[in-house]
Amino acid sequence: MTENLIILGSGPAGLSAAIYAARGNLNPLVLTGQELGGQIALTNEVENYPGFPDGIAGPELVQLMQKQAEKFGARIEMDTVIEANLRVHPFQLKTQSGAQYETKALIVATGASPRRLNVPGERELTGRGVSYCATCDGFFFRDKEIAVVGGGDSALQESLFLTKFASKVHIIHRRDQLRAQKILQDRARANPKINFVWNTVVKEIRGSGKVEALLLENTQTHAQTEFPVQGIFVYIGHIPNTSLFKGQLEMDEEGYLKVDARLHTNIPGVFAAGESHDRVFRQAVVSAGLGTMAELEAEKWLAEWEHRQAMGR
Ligand code: NAP
Repeated sequence: MTENLIILGSGPAGLSAAIYAARGNLNPLVLTGQELGGQIALTNEVENYPGFPDGIAGPELVQLMQKQAEKFGARIEMDTVIEANLRVHPFQLKTQSGAQYETKALIVATGASPRRLNVPGERELTGRGVSYCATCDGFFFRDKEIAVVGGGDSALQESLFLTKFASKVHIIHRRDQLRAQKILQDRARANPKINFVWNTVVKEIRGSGKVEALLLENTQTHAQTEFPVQGIFVYIGHIPNTSLFKGQLEMDEEGYLKVDARLHTNIPGVFAAGESHDRVFRQAVVSAGLGTMAELEAEKWLAEWEHRQAMGR
């Protein structure tokens, strides 16, 4: 069976596209990717998504979006595409579970994944004190001293969350100015459990079997010091999940997909929505809007395609 529309990814972009596509009678199929809900599902508290004045937990927001999409008939499969052939039409997809699909239109809402530090010890100690998800792992650091790397919204927001558990949170930032919003900066500076370590980068994560210390380097003096901590949370930005489409979809040097103002990629019938192409705004509400835009365009494109088929063109 050839699908009308497959949506890759189940973050705010993918699930918003699914809600619109289901309501547009396209009977869409969502292939969730590794994490249902994507990055927002790993966010402890979402305070700026309109409609939730008291904030909402990321996983709960995802559940509500999923429920809304399914209510209108979207099918949501926990599976990840590992191969895509966009050179043929209908497009062909193969998934991790071994399923194969054909689809007339495709929305790439695969989002982005946390950037790694790429220092010695990081890979070996991931899950043993190195984490990229405070919501998932914060609880394990009750009364422990930990580090958070980064100076953006994520680093500050998640540091504030981690103060609920940790005895001390050291925010290690490579400059002496934060990139994060003022409101988060003010809250972090006022929190007695938070300590800022400025102009500093992590050169190595040390420990046998679990994180015990960091090797830090001052970016001005290049002096190196060993800094004892029991955990490290890395929040230094993201990398778009687009490697699957290399050589088929046009992307910039960092892997962000190139789209036009209506979210069409270089291949007719393939659209992109969310952080797979948006390197600027990266907000859940923006991604939801982009998912909606991509779906409306996909719907229009499909109608035109069906019309051309019927006319034998
Ligand atoms: P981000 O804004 O890109 O910030 C990344 C931080 O990591 C920056 O401070 C950067 O330093 C630092 N960094 C990057 N590469 C590094 C490296 N190799 N070593 C050390 N430090 C490094 O990423 P984000 O905080 O994850 O935020 C992503 C987007 O989501 C943003 O648009 C943000 O506004 C949004 N967001 C919003 C909220 C909210 O509204 N509450 C919450 C979370 C995220 P420099 O500053 O020196 O570049």
